[in-house]
Amino acid sequence: MNKPRHAPSVLEAFPVKKGELMIGGIPITRLADRVGQTPFYAYDRQKISERIAHLRKHLPSEIHLHYAIKANPMPAVVQHLAGLVDGFDLASGGEMHVALDTGMSADNISFAGPGKSEREIASAIAAGVTLNLESATELETAARLGEKQGIKPRVAVRVNPDFELKSSGMKMGGGPKQFGIDAEQVPAVLKCIGELALNFQGFHIFSGSQNLRPEAIIEAQEKTFALAYRLAGDAPSAVYKLNIGGGFGIPYFPGEQPLDITPIGERLNDLLEEKAKQLPGTKVVIELGRYLIGEAGVYICRVVDHKISRGQVYLVTDGGLHHHLAASGNFGQIIRKNYPVLIGNKMGSSETETVSIVGPLCTPLDILADNMALAKATAGDLVVVFQSGAYGFSASPHHFLSHPPPLEVLI
Ligand SMILES: *Cc1c(COP(=O)(O)O)cnc(C)c1O
Repeated sequence: MNKPRHAPSVLEAFPVKKGELMIGGIPITRLADRVGQTPFYAYDRQKISERIAHLRKHLPSEIHLHYAIKANPMPAVVQHLAGLVDGFDLASGGEMHVALDTGMSADNISFAGPGKSEREIASAIAAGVTLNLESATELETAARLGEKQGIKPRVAVRVNPDFELKSSGMKMGGGPKQFGIDAEQVPAVLKCIGELALNFQGFHIFSGSQNLRPEAIIEAQEKTFALAYRLAGDAPSAVYKLNIGGGFGIPYFPGEQPLDITPIGERLNDLLEEKAKQLPGTKVVIELGRYLIGEAGVYICRVVDHKISRGQVYLVTDGGLHHHLAASGNFGQIIRKNYPVLIGNKMGSSETETVSIVGPLCTPLDILADNMALAKATAGDLVVVFQSGAYGFSASPHHFLSHPPPLEVLI
């Protein structure tokens, strides 16, 4: 049986010169010297820009592109994206400060997420950021705190749709969720918004994430527009914005192919034509996280030991699960699969070895690569984990075992 391999487009995403992987035009050993330590995350600003240009080319021009900051909240990254996207989506008050620091207009920032604190809601109101309401409680809190500030809060309704973004192996449900307000409860909530001193902005309908099948994304978008048309009948005022979610995925594991966005863009043209009739004047927003930044980032750590245990070769590194939980397989993976990994300073090497790459933590969960054929490496060599720009640094338990944190650089 042929082992599935990582897509060449992933492994060849960064150029190679004189046997070294080039990140942001810098050879990897030199980059490690410049950073001054391993491990670190490096994000390539040109790759981020190219990704946005690719989206702009294939999606209808009237689509407003938002960045979901939780994918990567590094301030320099968010600042770079501020010049490329049309708005930001937030999931916390902390992210709101990063977003506002970029100079992005509050009119183009929305704040979703369950369990917003009164402090977060009050800050968002004062900033003029749109609150995507996740419950009736949040609605009442927003109205009360708005009155106190003498401001009519901008609110949108986050809808828990009666469908799901179908992805490989996942059944569609439309079941209970901690996110959003059930579609069937939305008419009553809209009536409430009309009666309170709230400035209704529109709907936020997010049906899923990390999808590599254009037909599944298209189907979800069709259902999203249909649901919005139904709900708009009960809206207290015109629907200013309709956020149709995102869900564009990136290939992480062997056998996965990059998402083809061409058919999505083509179908969106038709959907927007229909929207112009049903909801003229409504701006349509797509919110993306990992698709914008995931492939622009790498995690780099250094081999500190090469050891053999009963025939199995281990490369022990100075990085691991505590810096990159997702690559270790412990961030929502059911069966552990390898992220794409290479030895970044031995790209031209013909001598290979099948190794497992582990970190310094005293737990068998601390694996960065399991049984991969890689260039033969020894202490000092640099391990590169690709597809690490999103849900890497900020989604990892840095304090676990009290090792120093990784650095982050934008190149
Ligand atoms: C996390 C999140 C996103 C971003 O998801 P990606 O898979 O990174 O694109 C978008 N919208 C909402 C509401 C989210 O919670």
